[in-house]
Amino acid sequence: MKFRDLTRQYLACKSEIDASINNVLASGNFIQGTEVQQVEAQLAKKVERKYCLTCANGTEAIMLILMALNVTAGDAVFVPDMTFIATANAVTILGATPIFVDIDSQTHNLSPIELKVAIEKTVSDGILKPKAIIAVDMNGLPADYEAIEKIAKEYKLFVVEDGAQSFGGSINERKAGSFGTASAVSFFPAKPFGCYGDGGAIFCDDDSLAEILNSIRFHGRSDKDKYDNIRLGINSRLDTIQAAILSAKLPKYFSYEMPKVQQIAKIYDNNLSKNLGLPHIPDGYTSSFCYYSVMAESMAERDKIREHLLNMGIPTLIYYPKPLHKQKVYASLEYTDGNFFNTIDYSERTFALPLHAYLEDIEVQQIIKETNKFFS
Ligand SMILES: *Cc1c(COP(=O)(O)O)cnc(C)c1O
Repeated sequence: MKFRDLTRQYLACKSEIDASINNVLASGNFIQGTEVQQVEAQLAKKVERKYCLTCANGTEAIMLILMALNVTAGDAVFVPDMTFIATANAVTILGATPIFVDIDSQTHNLSPIELKVAIEKTVSDGILKPKAIIAVDMNGLPADYEAIEKIAKEYKLFVVEDGAQSFGGSINERKAGSFGTASAVSFFPAKPFGCYGDGGAIFCDDDSLAEILNSIRFHGRSDKDKYDNIRLGINSRLDTIQAAILSAKLPKYFSYEMPKVQQIAKIYDNNLSKNLGLPHIPDGYTSSFCYYSVMAESMAERDKIREHLLNMGIPTLIYYPKPLHKQKVYASLEYTDGNFFNTIDYSERTFALPLHAYLEDIEVQQIIKETNKFFS
């Protein structure tokens, strides 16, 4: 059994994917072929944002947004302590300083209460200028944007959604990818909606922000003349072949993969041993279940369950074993564990069970049986 079976996924859409790749090969338009604009239009419609701008990967999607918002040295950007390192690195690369914030003990997303504490502290320290909040939709569950946007308004901060894990998720009628000033999405193959290489996208509604982002992803060019460079930019593009693959996969993602993942998650919810802490999805929220992360009683118990499952041929993974404040790259920020109780607890006890749309019923049953056997 694979944690995420991309071969089965490919075989389920093989004819559509092969045909779209072959079209691109025949066209010879490997960079910015018509498929790129086509998938941008399709994605913007799905997420219900005015603009979708594809780019090279999810990390650069975050970075491009921060560049467009003029985030720079001396700025503070608030980031949950529990996320993939890319969220913080996008800030640091621009010379700004990530401020790590503890997570909520239930949702495992950025804690609005701790966010406010961190902003107040940064203001009173008076060294860095609070500029933006990057809220991460951890495991595929959108963050608490209602509370976060209220705080952002109070302190005049931008909200950026790191939706690398949440494409397909929602809060009531609002889709993941539509929160904050701009949202970053990753199409890394193992993300909920992936291409077959690296890829990413930015979603936003503001006309002038979209124009700036479009310029930055093409070396800061003017929209009138591509050799007239009016600001600092980089090269961050989605390949035409990857765009074609995404277009071919998109219908099935919403008609089959998302519903199937929801269905398996419900089966896990209803059947897994209550000795495990199961995902908490607040009312009105939908998770894309990028990861079905559960909590053991302790790190020692987690290691034993994972070993038992591995012996039974069931792979599990940990997202993420090390909080950002403990990463060596951020040692110079001199954080102590004191402020990160929930993040540390989560990092020590969490692990993810296989969950994807191409798991067979018998595999789902086996995962439940072997997990529960551990407790009996
Ligand atoms: C995967 C991921 C990213 C980075 O996306 P890439 O496409 O791999 O660059 C950023 N943030 C989070 C939360 C992620 O899970």
